[in-house]
Amino acid sequence: MIKLYNTLTRKLEEFKPLVPGQVSFYSCGPTVYHHAHIGNLRAFVLADLLKRMFLANGYQVRNIMNITDVGHLTNDDDDSGEDKMEKGAARENKSVWDIAKFYTDEFLRDMKDLNNLPPTEMPKATDYIQEQIDLVKKLEELGYAYEIPGDGIYYDTSKFSNYGALTGGALTGNRAGARVGFNDAKRNPTDFALWKFSPKDTKRAMEWDSPWGVGFPGWHAECSAMSISLLGKHFDIHTGGIDLSRIHHANEIAQSEPIVGKPWVNYWVHNEFLVDKSGDKMAKSSGEFLTLSLLKEKGYDPMAFRYLLMLGHYQSQIAFSWEALDAAASGYKNIARKVAELMKEACGRFDQSQYDMRKGAILSAVNDNLGTPIALTMVQDLITASDMSPDTRIEVLKFVDDLLGLQFIDRAQKLLAEDTAPIPSEIQKLADERAAAKAEKNWAAADELRAQIETAGYIVKDEKDGYKITRK
Ligand code: AMP
Ligand code: ZN
Repeated sequence: MIKLYNTLTRKLEEFKPLVPGQVSFYSCGPTVYHHAHIGNLRAFVLADLLKRMFLANGYQVRNIMNITDVGHLTNDDDDSGEDKMEKGAARENKSVWDIAKFYTDEFLRDMKDLNNLPPTEMPKATDYIQEQIDLVKKLEELGYAYEIPGDGIYYDTSKFSNYGALTGGALTGNRAGARVGFNDAKRNPTDFALWKFSPKDTKRAMEWDSPWGVGFPGWHAECSAMSISLLGKHFDIHTGGIDLSRIHHANEIAQSEPIVGKPWVNYWVHNEFLVDKSGDKMAKSSGEFLTLSLLKEKGYDPMAFRYLLMLGHYQSQIAFSWEALDAAASGYKNIARKVAELMKEACGRFDQSQYDMRKGAILSAVNDNLGTPIALTMVQDLITASDMSPDTRIEVLKFVDDLLGLQFIDRAQKLLAEDTAPIPSEIQKLADERAAAKAEKNWAAADELRAQIETAGYIVKDEKDGYKITRK
C-alpha cells in the first residue's frame, strides 16, 4: 500500500490512482532566470523520488515538470515588481532568451548530476502561450475575470467559493493585503493577474498578442494550462515546495476547477524547506545562495548532497551547513566503501527469499509517505548483515539504487577501480620530495608537501622502510 500526506486534506492517505496501474503527476519546475539553488533542488529530488517509488511498485508513470521561462514578477504576492527574466538579462547583459537557454541547460545538468530521472516531458511556458490565453478566455466566459485598466486581467477570487482550501485559508489572511504598494484596484486582496498588459509605449523583451492587448501571462496560468494540456483534465498528484501551496497552488486550483471540475488534482505533495543555519529559507532573490556546481567545485559528490536530503523526511526542514554536508559525505562514502568490500567478497551465492524480504521491507518504508530516513537505516543494516551472502546484499542494493537513485553500486565500482589504478606520477613525485625533505630534517617543507598531497586526495603514510600512498 502506498501512503502519501495530502496537503489538501491534511491527512496521510492511501494512494488510489485515477487509472489502475498508472500515475500521472505534475511538478512545478525552475524559473530559469538564475541558477537553481540547493533548496530548489530539494523540490526536484522529491519529484524524482516519487517517480522512482511508483516505478518500483510497477506503475506506469507519466510526470511533467515545467520550465518557467516567461518572467513572473519579483513580487509574486501582488503581481508587481520587475520581471524576473528581464532582471536576469540586465544582470548578465544578455537577451532574455539567452538567459532562459543558459539556465535551462544548467538546470538539466543539475538534474543529471543528482541522478534525477528525466520527467516524461519538460514543457516551457513560452511554448504554451496560446493554451494560457485559452484558459484566461474560458475563465472570462465563466465570469471569473475582470479588467483593471492599464494593468491587466485579474481573477476574482470571491467567485470561487473554495478559494484557499488547499491550506485551509479563507479569503482573508491568505495574503498580505496590507502590503506596501498593494494594488487597491483589485476587488479582493487575494485576486491575481491572469494576463498583464505591457506598459504603454514600452516594448517588453517577451510579450504576445492577446484578445486583451499585448502583454504576458500571469505566472500561475502556465501550470494550469500545461498540466491540463499534457495530463488531461484530472490527474493524480501535484508537487512543489511548501511555499507554493498558499498562493501559487491555491491560484492554480482556482483557475482550473471552474474549467475541468472538481477535484482537479487528488493529492498535493509538498516538500519542506532547506534552510540555512539561522533557519532562513534559502532563496534566489537574496542573490546569495548555494548551487550544486559550487558544491562540486568544493569537491563534494552530488550524491553526498542527495544522501543528505534523504537522511531527512521530505516534510521536515533540513538545516544546511557545511558540517552537515561533511557528515553526509563521509556517511555516504562509508557505505560506498562497504559495498566495494562486498563486491570483492562476491561468491555467486544468492538467496531469493532473503532478497525478497529485505527488498520488501525497504520498499514498504518508502511507500509509507516516502520514509527515506527509515529506508536508509535499513540499508545500513543490510550492508553489515552477516547472515546474508555478499551477492544477495548486492542485489538488494541494486534495487535500492533504482528506488532512491543514490548510485551506491556505481560509486563502489569507482572506488574499486581507483584501488587498482596506479598512483599518478605527480603525486609520486610530491611524496618523493617529501621523503627527501624529511631526510634533510626540513620539517616545514615536508608538512607542506603532505598538505599538497592530501589536497589532491591522497594520504601518505610513513612505514619502516619508506612510505605508502593511499587514496583518501
Ligand atoms: P523556483 O525556481 O523559485 O520557481 O522554485 C522551484 C521549486 O523550489 C519550487 O517548488 C519551490 O517551492 C522550491 N523551493 C524554493 N526554495 C526552497 C527551499 N529553500 N527549500 C526547498 N524548496 C524550495
Ligand atoms: Zn507551478
